[in-house]
Amino acid sequence: MPGRSGSTSGSTGFISFSGVESALSSLKNFQSYISSGMETASNVALDLVETQTEVSSEYSMDKAMVEFAIMDRELNHYVKAVQSAINHVKEERPEKIPDLKLLVQKKFLALQDKNSDADFQNNEKFVQFKQQLRELKKQYGLQADREADGTEGVDEDMIVTQSQTNFICPITQMEMKKPVKSKVCGHTYEEEAIVRMIESKHRRKKKACCPKIGCSHTVKMSDLILDEALRRAIENHNKKKQRHSE
Ligand SMILES: [Zn+2]
Repeated sequence: MPGRSGSTSGSTGFISFSGVESALSSLKNFQSYISSGMETASNVALDLVETQTEVSSEYSMDKAMVEFAIMDRELNHYVKAVQSAINHVKEERPEKIPDLKLLVQKKFLALQDKNSDADFQNNEKFVQFKQQLRELKKQYGLQADREADGTEGVDEDMIVTQSQTNFICPITQMEMKKPVKSKVCGHTYEEEAIVRMIESKHRRKKKACCPKIGCSHTVKMSDLILDEALRRAIENHNKKKQRHSE
């Protein structure tokens, strides 16, 4: 058994994990702070693109997102390490309690060892951020990432007509207020309408199909993500329209 040091207790064979477990839940709380931090950073970055602030400040938001993603990964690994250390002790029921701190550290380092940049591709918030930034830049005709998707300098009128059709929800046939996108097929819908549709299908034990004409994919709740770039585009479009009519 590893970790002979520091295990003076444990002779009764009863181990209390309540302390460790409450620490674990506070770690998970911290995870939600990171997640809301990422949301803030992402919103600030999108604001910067909208107000066309110089690229350098946007770049620093990009770095902030990377840092959040790293923190998130680290915390994830730590929580995993603690959990697996607890499980290890619970399952093996060793005579003497091993040095939990050491055990956690070992498991944590093993997880950290496998870190790679590709991990961020699994961080949903990070991926979403990158995607929305790209879409918003496209709408504003900024040249960044242009080579990535092959769109050349499109003129503004075209962007407007093109995107206006995307403003309409295929379910309500009305302009969306809170558009959500299906991760599977990329179609967007009014959140309230698609949620109601999925729920009513599920009540009848059926799968919901994407309501966009010609799309044969199914939609699940877990596939839906808020399309922040589109929401902003609609909002801006309406602001412009208002200004014109004044
Ligand atoms: Zn679809």
